[in-house]
Amino acid sequence: MAGFLWNDDGGKEGSVMHYRLTGVHDKEDKEWLERFGTYNAVPPGFIRISELEFSRSNFFTYMPKYVEHRQVRLNQKYVNLYMYYFHDHTGIAMSSDQQGVKYYKFFLCQHELKEISRQEAEDKGIYHGGTMYHVEICQKCDYVHAYDSSG
Ligand SMILES: [Zn+2]
Repeated sequence: MAGFLWNDDGGKEGSVMHYRLTGVHDKEDKEWLERFGTYNAVPPGFIRISELEFSRSNFFTYMPKYVEHRQVRLNQKYVNLYMYYFHDHTGIAMSSDQQGVKYYKFFLCQHELKEISRQEAEDKGIYHGGTMYHVEICQKCDYVHAYDSSG
């Protein structure tokens, strides 16, 4: 089973922030998801995290871009894994057993973000919103993280 994409029609003026799961048909989305491996594969960068790390994770900040169910082998056992993908090439996964819920994270890249100037952003064709705006680029994968610090 492939990942699912949230139908991103939320956030329009007058609408509420609801998302609906739809199949992934876009070639770019499919190629991106393929980089995280197949149904029985442990995703890249996969590591168990504590409940405290989970509570501080992007899971509670970002709307997931995709969700996926997988069955993977962990410690000689098949485990149902529920995966939540975020736009920044990272994800959170969960499994459950008789002892409770286990949390994991995974990622394509352990980003090394470096802030660039407005001029550098413009040279690269990246939007830069001015003085209170920050654009950071990952030195390893070109992921762009932009945010406004004006509050
Ligand atoms: Zn990166």
